[in-house]
Amino acid sequence: MIYVLLFLSVFIGYFLALFFHRRGITQSAILLAFSGAFLLSVTLFELLPEVFENPSKELGLLIMSGILLQIVLDFFSKGAEHGHVHLPAETFQFPWMLFISLSIHSLIEGVPAASNDSMLVGIMVHKVPIALILTLFFIRARLGTARILIFLLLFAAMTPLGSFISSELEVINTYKTQINALAIGVLLHVSTTILFESSRDHKFNLAKLTAIVIGIVVAYFV
Ligand SMILES: [Zn+2]
Ligand SMILES: [Zn+2]
Repeated sequence: MIYVLLFLSVFIGYFLALFFHRRGITQSAILLAFSGAFLLSVTLFELLPEVFENPSKELGLLIMSGILLQIVLDFFSKGAEHGHVHLPAETFQFPWMLFISLSIHSLIEGVPAASNDSMLVGIMVHKVPIALILTLFFIRARLGTARILIFLLLFAAMTPLGSFISSELEVINTYKTQINALAIGVLLHVSTTILFESSRDHKFNLAKLTAIVIGIVVAYFV
């Protein structure tokens, strides 16, 4: 069931992108701000206390490693995980580097998604605007529908695959807390960057602020 849900959120993003594209909407900032606040909140409310049931300095180090890992992945994904793509639109090939870094990120996300229902919802909500932004970019880069769908299909498969591996493989299950700590670092980097970039020019924006507050409140009660 959770595999289907994780899969579905990418395609909700895809269909939203088609709708946005047809309507000429290029802004997905409010949806992104909501998803960032929501993801950060469930990470802080649910995953962090779960991982720190037995506090240790090692767990803090793993969280830092997750942040560092996401910084490195960002070199290759050019920010796709937090809401924008800077690939050259001309001479467009299948974006392998983007795909590989998104896949590593998504596999890691699969571990907390499998162990915690609120995290599952948080990661689903996070995937919708990312899939939307990727699709809009691919449409603008004139990537064919078949190639867009293949990319999204493989991208959508990664998080459920991570969840599957984490519940089926004994080794992963043994180190679940450690991997969850690493995932916290990844998620903290992604969600705080979304929030940071949603107010990049420090202009007050009531709609975005409202979206952020709603994200926090909904996450608290989910
Ligand atoms: Zn960025
Ligand atoms: Zn992600």
